[in-house]
Amino acid sequence: MVKGCITVKLTELFASKKSTLSFEVFPPKNTDGYESVSEAVEKIAALGPDYMSITYGAGGSNSAFSAAVASDVKKRCGVTPLAHLSCVTATRQSITEYVRILTGDGIENVLALRGDIPDGVDPSGFEFEHASDLVAMLKEISGLCVGGACYPEGHPESASLAQDIEAVRIKVAAGCDFLTTQMFFDNNVLYNYMFKLRDKGVNVPVVAGIMPITNAKSIKRICKLSGIVLPQRFRMIVDRYGDDPDAMKQAGIAYATEQIIDLYANGIKAVHVYVMNKPDVAAKIKENLSSIVK
Ligand code: FAD
Repeated sequence: MVKGCITVKLTELFASKKSTLSFEVFPPKNTDGYESVSEAVEKIAALGPDYMSITYGAGGSNSAFSAAVASDVKKRCGVTPLAHLSCVTATRQSITEYVRILTGDGIENVLALRGDIPDGVDPSGFEFEHASDLVAMLKEISGLCVGGACYPEGHPESASLAQDIEAVRIKVAAGCDFLTTQMFFDNNVLYNYMFKLRDKGVNVPVVAGIMPITNAKSIKRICKLSGIVLPQRFRMIVDRYGDDPDAMKQAGIAYATEQIIDLYANGIKAVHVYVMNKPDVAAKIKENLSSIVK
């Protein structure tokens, strides 16, 4: 199926639409997984999100698949792709080559990330220290629309939220056009964070990242790794329904839907949902918002 290939720079999208809803997918680890990922991606794309982001394996492990899925999103599905790209173990040369592949496929949007430093590796010899270094390089060598990550509860490596916000300010000063947040489960955390960002002069669009939790085990792991705090209200849901997969899924989607509606109602214009290649979850969220995001 070849659909229309007209896609947009996300800065133009954010400027032109009252509210946007986008979905995130991840590429397969190997060729064997490509078909099932493609199927999921097509179904998610058929729901008509404003754009879809495609994650990039730590250290570039699945970079070819990431670029291929981003290209499929654009060419086969007719949806604007946002290709993630991490630089932690990359070189200027490898980034230049990868950007050539992306732009050759007509991809216009990249989420520039540092990526996690591999365990036990000394990063002092790496060519890129921070995501802001990648942002600056992408702006220097391409006309890409470049986004970056931000963390409403602070990045786990940061000594304080204030220090982390200063790093975001530097990233934006390096040319970052928009930010996408780490997931959060208490909207007040985001509202406080937005106030602090704007106070420090960070005025680019901020896309709120929402994760519908459909599995109790995964949330415990995610919180442990990222330092995200689960509000009491959500912990009660996990405690009550965590052992019943269908109930947990229904409750997780309902909680995410409520978060999203509250975000739009409070002036957040762009919401990105981490649907993790699950078309049924994406479809339910979309259905729940059918009269809210048109
Ligand atoms: P940075 O912005 O470099 O920040 C990392 C740490 O360094 C922070 O503590 C920050 O405060 C500090 N810092 C940054 N700049 C400076 C500076 N100039 N001076 C001093 N300190 C500084 N990972 C993947 O591997 N693939 C993905 O596809 C992916 N997608 C993601 C999407 C989103 C929306 C988010 C929020 C994260 C994603 N990640 C992904 C995870 C991300 O790579 C990790 O969180 C990583 O540890 C940090 O990446 P970053 O781009 O935020 O790094």
